Amino acid sequence: MTSPRDRDAPAPAAGGSLYRRLVAKARAECLPLQVVLELTTRCNLRCTHCYAAERPRGELSTEQMRDALDQFAAAGALFLTLTGGEPLVHPDFWTICEQARKRGFSITVFTNGTLIGPAEADRLLALQTERMEVSILGSTPATHDAITGREGSFERTMRAVDLLIERGLRVQMKATWMRTNIAEARAVETLAREHGAAFRSGFLLMPTGPEGSRTDALRVTGDQVAALSDAWLESGWTGRPSQAALVPADPEKQANTIPCGAGQASCYVDCRGAVYPCVAIRRAAGSLLEQDFARIWQDSPVLREIRGIRLADLPDCRSCALFDLCPRCAGVADMESGSLLAKSPQACRIAEARRSMRRLPAEPEAKTGIRNTTKTCPPDVDNHREKNDDSPGWKRRAFISNVRTADGGPGIDR
Ligand code: SF4
Ligand code: SF4
Repeated sequence: MTSPRDRDAPAPAAGGSLYRRLVAKARAECLPLQVVLELTTRCNLRCTHCYAAERPRGELSTEQMRDALDQFAAAGALFLTLTGGEPLVHPDFWTICEQARKRGFSITVFTNGTLIGPAEADRLLALQTERMEVSILGSTPATHDAITGREGSFERTMRAVDLLIERGLRVQMKATWMRTNIAEARAVETLAREHGAAFRSGFLLMPTGPEGSRTDALRVTGDQVAALSDAWLESGWTGRPSQAALVPADPEKQANTIPCGAGQASCYVDCRGAVYPCVAIRRAAGSLLEQDFARIWQDSPVLREIRGIRLADLPDCRSCALFDLCPRCAGVADMESGSLLAKSPQACRIAEARRSMRRLPAEPEAKTGIRNTTKTCPPDVDNHREKNDDSPGWKRRAFISNVRTADGGPGIDR
């Protein structure tokens, strides 16, 4: 399934200049470059942090899915991300993939990997799947399976990763850090690297349970952050440079910065045909059962409103000293505080934890004016990069990154 910060279609590699140019053009021309399509909310696992289980049931028929693909293509979409739930649970997953390929989409699949064996890996290769994003929640079967609620899921997931990589498919493993797995953060990254996968991870959880109570119980603790901080600092980690380096000098440009990429060149379509700015902003822009996709994309008041939000509109965040460290997601802020413009208590905690991990002063130097950051929404997945002693200025093993490309690449985090 997708989660905050899960929004890519082509790989981060595609987040380079060509992809950025594509996104810039799509934004300028108001084109839905990337569509994230939820095939189902069903899943064969039962993860502790999963929000899909709380979503309403019901799915478009395969014929309706096919029609939706036509509409996405006609509206200008190039990148299609198939997600769930677990998309491979959908009985017509392969048919939908084939239909998407026929329409020329670059396909990314978000999966837990447990339903991928040799035959499925062969089919994904034959479909020229651009990228596979596979969830990993621990470095050991005990930890991972305790979170997924399914014994044997770790082995099946890692087997899928190996099968996909053996065939030359691009695989990115993704972790969500919680109280129950944060102690294995470094081991999980090592595991992914050793298997030849790219890796990224993050702290942000979609609120679940009554008033987010289930999520609250899963969040990492302050002591865990402190312990992790010590371990990373002992390893020589120095943190990444501040995004302040990206700040344009022109205050007007800063004020006009778009703080959230939701609905700018991408959107999320759930398995019942509802169109959203992104997975985290739970304000439907329209329904494919009632309107043509292009009409929704162009005319929806929800999308128009979100496209109009600028950094200057965020009363708490625009002058926040922790902004450079903050993974704020407008959708999560909306769920937590009831406003797309509000600060996000969860993001505030993460930003504060990052400040602590970087050993920054408790009250960072006051910022003047509005700073720019080219963040996307939903944010945050921290890129855990390989240590590279040749990299100048800072260790590439950066536990805290939050410096994504201008548009985050196409991708949504599971
Ligand atoms: S694999 Fe994803 S969709 Fe399935 S239970 Fe876990 S979080 Fe939910
Ligand atoms: S969400 Fe909190 S930490 Fe982040 S910029 Fe806003 S006020 Fe600052």
